[in-house]
Amino acid sequence: MTISFDDLADKILAGGSATPEDAVAVLQADDSELMSIVAAAGRLRRKHFANTVKVNYLVNLKSGLCPENCNYCSQAIGSEAPILKYSYLSKEETLKQAGMGLQGGATRVCMVSSGRGPSERDIDKVVEMTEALKDEYAGVEVCACLGLLKDGQAERLKAAGVDAYNHNINTAESNHDTIVQTHTYADRVDTIGKAKTAGLSPCSGLIAGLGETDEQLAEALFALKALESDSIPVNFLMPFDGTPYENTWELSPVRCVKILATARFVCPDKEIRIAGGREMHLRSLQATALQVANSIFLGDYLTSEGQDALTDLEMLRDNGFSILGMDQDAFNELITSHQAGITHRAHATQGGCATSGGACGSSAGGCGDGCGGCSVASTSPEAETSEHNPAIRRRGAGTEVAANA
Ligand code: SF4
Repeated sequence: MTISFDDLADKILAGGSATPEDAVAVLQADDSELMSIVAAAGRLRRKHFANTVKVNYLVNLKSGLCPENCNYCSQAIGSEAPILKYSYLSKEETLKQAGMGLQGGATRVCMVSSGRGPSERDIDKVVEMTEALKDEYAGVEVCACLGLLKDGQAERLKAAGVDAYNHNINTAESNHDTIVQTHTYADRVDTIGKAKTAGLSPCSGLIAGLGETDEQLAEALFALKALESDSIPVNFLMPFDGTPYENTWELSPVRCVKILATARFVCPDKEIRIAGGREMHLRSLQATALQVANSIFLGDYLTSEGQDALTDLEMLRDNGFSILGMDQDAFNELITSHQAGITHRAHATQGGCATSGGACGSSAGGCGDGCGGCSVASTSPEAETSEHNPAIRRRGAGTEVAANA
């Protein structure tokens, strides 16, 4: 099917909707049409979000040790990926990690824990963390991602001030049972419903590159539309060595932009977040992708390292974006302080500072050297990386090394 992407944008801007056939046509368009797709989907992005980018920050509260068998996940039972493994962070450590992300420019903190779902004691901990975060950082948005919810748990989170709940559908219902067998698609939809009913903003998205067809990608996006997901994280499979998907590589940068544009056409007024796999799959098209998407994670992911936060921030500014909730002067100051941190780090590694390697535990305020704080390199020295294998996270939550923020 051949379509005019501009006509499709016109139809949507006039109040119409994309169809599943439109979605498949965008996904199957010739690569030479990429900029036409971006220009058309970009009109929808600009209408609803202007030039703003929402900056989110992940805090992995509990890493690994999961009894579920999601085949794509480095934390799943049976995964041999050498990730960090730890049980719940303390409230104090959570505040410290979240604070780094907020000082780094994020407005939403996403608190994530591995596992099938939270116990009541886990909910107690997240309630305490949320109340402390809201006390300390006025205006912070908190999203929780704790797995499958039982009756009453979403209401407890809402009462504590949690704003949103993340639970991804991950893939089309017709593909779900090939990627995980320990829970069902219906289980996932049930939890999204519980969150919505309790008044939490539903955040649900997908992972591309799991062997799904174009029709299944369209199916997943229309399912997210029907679920009224307010924010849609689009992950690109990171094929960790030691997981069933190791060496799986189905995506190209152009393909990833088309997927994000399709998400924009299907859900024009929703937050489309470029999530895990941004750097390794989009590569030099990250900024192009932000012409259709409007949200990113700053810094690192749950078990892998992203590009350094300064590179994220400079990419936004260089491409004419602003950070949602931050004025331009503050944005410029933020970049300047990150640049000073990099300078400080170079100085420190030359022996000019008692705190070597930027590991003083603070990305703002620093080690008292008057430099504006330490930042971190593009990957931590201990991170193992190769072209198609994610760099395992060795800094931030669960370590003594400063976070990438
Ligand atoms: S995605 Fe979540 S539930 Fe599935 S294995 Fe990973 S941590 Fe466990």
